Amino acid sequence: MSDVLNFDENCVFCRIIKGDIPSAKVYEDELCYAFRDINPQAPTHILVVPKAHIQSVAEIDGENEALLVGHMFTVIAKIARDEGLEGGYRVISNCGPDAGQTVPHLHFHILGGVKMGERMV
Ligand code: AMP
Ligand code: ZN
Repeated sequence: MSDVLNFDENCVFCRIIKGDIPSAKVYEDELCYAFRDINPQAPTHILVVPKAHIQSVAEIDGENEALLVGHMFTVIAKIARDEGLEGGYRVISNCGPDAGQTVPHLHFHILGGVKMGERMV
């Protein structure tokens, strides 16, 4: 079980971090948690989420950029190395309805293990 800052009981990712909902954990530290996507879109599909309930990229600001978001990208690079994604990978964060964000808790998708198409949308 993990502590969640700003825990939102209606948020599926807060409940995953807390341990109320099971997940295939890949990595955890004091600031973030990573687990395998339940509906993978690539051979490797991992979600990296902050332990603090931040809704999306739109809530990144001067208060959280360095400690939280900068750290999350260091973790993303480490996970990609550990997963053996030597050929490359894609990092995606859907922000808001037009981007198709379905879970309103900031998360970065790590997608890899396949040669992707050139189109991003
Ligand atoms: P997004 O559409 O960018 O908000 O991404 C949300 C992602 O969360 C989707 O890829 C879902 O498959 C994934 N997801 C939703 N619920 C779970 C869960 N319980 N465990 C793992 N992944 C989940
Ligand atoms: Zn949350």
